[in-house]
Amino acid sequence: MHYIRAFLHLMFGLMLLASVSVTSAQAQGTPPLDPTAALLVELIRVNTSNPPGNEAQLAELLAPRFRALGFEVDIIPTPVAGKSHFIARLRGDGSKKPLLIAAHADVVGVEREKWTVDPFAGVIKDGSVYGRGAIDFKGGMAVFARAALMIAEKKIPLSRDLIFLAEADEEGAPFNTSWLSRDHFAKIDAAFALNEGGWIIKGDDGRAKYVSISTADKSSVQLIVTARGTSTHSSMPQPDNAIFVLSKAMAKLADYETAVQLTASTKRFFSTLAETSVPPMSQYFRDLVSGTAAKAHAADKMISKDPLLHSIMRNTIAPVFLTAGFRSNVIPGSADATLNIRTIPGTTAASMIAELTRVINDARVEVKVAPPSGTAPPTATAAAATMIPESPTSSELYIALEREAKVTYPTAKVTPYLFQAGTDAGAWRSRGIPVFGIYPYAITADELKRMHGNDERVSIESLRRGTEMIYRTLVRVAGKAP
Ligand SMILES: [Zn+2]
Repeated sequence: MHYIRAFLHLMFGLMLLASVSVTSAQAQGTPPLDPTAALLVELIRVNTSNPPGNEAQLAELLAPRFRALGFEVDIIPTPVAGKSHFIARLRGDGSKKPLLIAAHADVVGVEREKWTVDPFAGVIKDGSVYGRGAIDFKGGMAVFARAALMIAEKKIPLSRDLIFLAEADEEGAPFNTSWLSRDHFAKIDAAFALNEGGWIIKGDDGRAKYVSISTADKSSVQLIVTARGTSTHSSMPQPDNAIFVLSKAMAKLADYETAVQLTASTKRFFSTLAETSVPPMSQYFRDLVSGTAAKAHAADKMISKDPLLHSIMRNTIAPVFLTAGFRSNVIPGSADATLNIRTIPGTTAASMIAELTRVINDARVEVKVAPPSGTAPPTATAAAATMIPESPTSSELYIALEREAKVTYPTAKVTPYLFQAGTDAGAWRSRGIPVFGIYPYAITADELKRMHGNDERVSIESLRRGTEMIYRTLVRVAGKAP
């Protein structure tokens, strides 16, 4: 292992040299790096892998730039040393409620040996910025920050305050925006907000096919399936062995598929896919939204081969832990499976428990909400989150972003979208404040797969156009009418 490590160090060293020579090439007359890409390189170089996060270092990097342009800067420390939220406010004339743009500062960790470059060096290669967070979500932070700074540089008169927020602990840790909103909500209160969420997806021809803007997130709840049997000596087994009972229950769940439930956003999303794809998929998308029950069912089977599309049209069930037994000469009296359930808006934990109990149909098996544990978010709030309504597409912010997305990507259709995972938008949506999500750069399906994966990267041209799109959206929503 040490030899391999030494070899990797050598490789990283050579790559660093390569990136240094790119920089000196720029000094010798090649055009300077796009400002958004340059900022992203700096953001990636601050390693904010969570745990521990170290988001305060990113706040220190951002603070002087925002202060220099007239933003009021607030750094909110959390109980964990080195972990802070960063808030920068540019004052408008106060005639309208603020516009908030939010980006999480932390990233997930890396499997370094699977990267071809140093994930924390901000390497530029083949027209892209490489590094952990390039897509999720330091790329978005660079775009949002540059767009906000441009508003100040160009001295755009504002009718509402513009608030830029760099959040701690989005990637599944306790001092996230829900924590921030408890005592500091006045600092992040707004009429509406932009956050991470939907996608600008490029086709094989390099042109944007569609722009999806998320208007809601799926929620998650942990359920425990407990099977009970006789606890006894393993030399004299009885038919009610808890592990067998649990296995039978899990086999029933494995063969079960939840019903398709299309929200208003999901219907529009699949209709957009019908328009932007080729047969036979285009017909399947059409059938899913408006076909007969039999056609919709057949379409579901085909579309669901894509795990992302499968997940946004239904509640999903994923077993994640099994617990049973403590020694080889004892048959345990109970066996547990933990299920991670991802719910579409409107689904409660109680309705999922009833559904799974019906499918398992065995009086020896009980399904209940898992107690809070370790770093898992408390399920009580997750259950409440399922009742948060979708943010309305009639909102001034949605309309402005939709319009600027069409200007920036004339070939693309724009659609609302139910985001397949959770984000930290709940702090606002749960208070009735609309949040719209976008990863503001055009990416290919391959680049999308690299999010939370290896060789995560984003194209410099996509960053440049995304910054233009967000800047014009901010001017439209927060700028004073001329
Ligand atoms: Zn993210």
